[in-house]
Amino acid sequence: MSSPKDKKYLNVAVPTPLRRTFHYRLPASVDPAGLNPGIRIRVPFGRRTLVGVLIEATSTAPVDKNRLKTPFAILDDDPVLAPILLRLCLWAADYYQHPVGEVIASALPALVRRGADIAQTEEFLVSTEKGFTLDLSLLKRAPAQAALLRLLRGSDPSGLTRTRLKQAAVTAGVIRALVDKGFAAWISRRLGDQAPFDPGGVDYKATIELTEAQHQVVASIAAAGTKPSLLFGITGSGKTEVYFELIEKVLRAGKQALVLVPEIGLTPQTVQRFNARFNVPISVFHSGMTDRERLTAWMAARSGAAGIIIGTRSAIFAPLKHPGLIVVDEEHDTSFKQQDGFRYSARDLAVLRGQMEQVPVILGSATPSLESWHNAKTGKYHLVRLVSRPGTTMPATYRVIDLRNLPLTEGFAPPLLEAMKRELEAHNQVLVFLNRRGYSPVLMCRECGYIAHCHRCDARLTVHQPMGVLICHHCTSQIPIPRTCPECHGADLALIGIGTQRIEQTLSDLFGKHRIIRIDRDSTRGKHNMDRFRAEIQKGEPVILVGTQLLAKGHHFPDVTLVAIVDMDAGFYSANYKASERMGQLILQVGGRAGRANKPGVVVIQTHLPDQPIFRQLIEEGYERFADRLLQERKTYELPPFHHHALIRAEATTRQAPMNFLQSIAENVNPATSVSVLGPIPASMERKAGKYRAHLLISSDARTSLKHMLAHCIELAETSPSTRKVRWSVDVDPVDLF
Ligand code: ADP
Ligand code: ZN
Repeated sequence: MSSPKDKKYLNVAVPTPLRRTFHYRLPASVDPAGLNPGIRIRVPFGRRTLVGVLIEATSTAPVDKNRLKTPFAILDDDPVLAPILLRLCLWAADYYQHPVGEVIASALPALVRRGADIAQTEEFLVSTEKGFTLDLSLLKRAPAQAALLRLLRGSDPSGLTRTRLKQAAVTAGVIRALVDKGFAAWISRRLGDQAPFDPGGVDYKATIELTEAQHQVVASIAAAGTKPSLLFGITGSGKTEVYFELIEKVLRAGKQALVLVPEIGLTPQTVQRFNARFNVPISVFHSGMTDRERLTAWMAARSGAAGIIIGTRSAIFAPLKHPGLIVVDEEHDTSFKQQDGFRYSARDLAVLRGQMEQVPVILGSATPSLESWHNAKTGKYHLVRLVSRPGTTMPATYRVIDLRNLPLTEGFAPPLLEAMKRELEAHNQVLVFLNRRGYSPVLMCRECGYIAHCHRCDARLTVHQPMGVLICHHCTSQIPIPRTCPECHGADLALIGIGTQRIEQTLSDLFGKHRIIRIDRDSTRGKHNMDRFRAEIQKGEPVILVGTQLLAKGHHFPDVTLVAIVDMDAGFYSANYKASERMGQLILQVGGRAGRANKPGVVVIQTHLPDQPIFRQLIEEGYERFADRLLQERKTYELPPFHHHALIRAEATTRQAPMNFLQSIAENVNPATSVSVLGPIPASMERKAGKYRAHLLISSDARTSLKHMLAHCIELAETSPSTRKVRWSVDVDPVDLF
């Protein structure tokens, strides 16, 4: 047994692209007993100074001890990465074969990562003594002030930060009034000193009575204990209310709930809904925050002051003082997988973190990913279903329009146009879905056949009419729309195919008296545009919504009775084996917008492939049978989730470099049974933003074999003579093969 006194070395994860940790010599003046794994250490690294995280103090070092350097500073007493989060990071670095220093860095807010003093102070608004004893009826002419004072006296004895006041929609004027009257005051406090929220002070405002089915689901999930649950509930079946009920139990026990949502699912409305239900501090994590805001949210989660932590992918690393529950909403959403750098799946890490923390994990979706569906079918997850909507709301009915032999008006078949007209005349709203923004995806010269391509990508340029430009949707480069053909100088340039802008124009020609609201990435770019659109839609006037998948998620449009899917076929022609799964999910998610509230909905799908069996199955028998069938196919073709995939991706400015680099790996791998190494294969869009891309696909039905082979390939990659001629990266469980 070695005593702490023998621990003369520090094993530190340093943020570098090297797949290893580094040892430093512990200064004799420092007592190793006080050094906890997870604290930050400022270390010399080459000529630089970096902030690393202590993995452990050790009694030996694997290298020549005389060459070891001494750290510059020990930055923390308390770990910035609690033991479980540190374990999660180490596990992820190993599983995704990503440099451990980078994994740990990405689990920390930027300011913490850079070595900031986290014991910073922040201002909190608190009630004064005078405020506590005031007879609130004296403020009845100033209800907003009374409400704020009630808040300060009630749920948040430790006070409200500016962020939290903003969340609660308190205006600066109201705050000033209370401060001027001496009922409230700003105090400065160290962030780390925040007290955990008081479960007794939380206002649990359930306004909805759960249905019998929802109660059963809640009970069933609670009974599953720490086994992960897959909540498979059709759109509008009340999954969120189920989460709320379970979160309430957790909060009442003084524990915290971590809720992960997809990137476009995290809207002010989402946070508002949680705020309305629970009057408890909420930490929100998303990509649009300042470093400072992120640190504040992180500190509130870590101190236990926040009862609920809501965020996108990266929130899976949020520190929790008293973890109680993890929810992954819309678990099928691909935004849970990071698509560059450290390519982790937040959904998969959520399941793992739940096991480590010994807390329940709920994965919820109307269209579960095949991975989760498979895990539910094989008993790894506890499966619960919500098959109907609460109250009288009926699920939408589906109607297929066979486009073959129908005369189309700009992509619309006559029966669809008639149905739209009927609904609008009945004062209902119509939603037109097309997953293609812009005016038209192709600009073609009718004389010579020239098609406008991006000069940096193997992709066509999309026509964006109002701005008069051609835009590449892959690298965002843009050029003015040419007046004549750049090849033959002919003047007959044709716009082929339809995008959302074109639909907007067509529909305003056809349905001129109705307002048309286009919702896609172009139209919602301004900060408040989406809120404005939403407010307009909620007025309930008979409007037409035209949009991309931005419309497909989480929104609640009670007056939409008709959803039209203009072009269903694109997804089924794709070379990506995941395309049918995605298309099926999208159809049901978009369809799920129809007929909420008390108006029945219809989903009209236009297709040239009405007899596609997989598609028939989806709309006639529902997602379960559809998913079962896709799983059967995946099994037959040895695809995930039955076989596991990992990619080595490479890119460079010449076509040959990535291919040669990967080839040198493929040629030198030691063959292994039960693992195959395929390629190199050029990416399906080989050139993107000026870089040529290729990959090597490693596939196996056994995780361990896959991992060994991947590690072997990485070793070859690191030692390959051409390793510096390319940029390469590792992608375990890729969501896309290009
Ligand atoms: P999901 O998350 O499954 O799409 P939501 O939880 O958002 O569904 O619920 C859909 C709609 O149904 C919401 O407007 C919600 O307020 C309402 N709702 C949910 N549960 C109930 C219930 N038990 N009684 C009445 N309305 C409900
Ligand atoms: Zn491009």
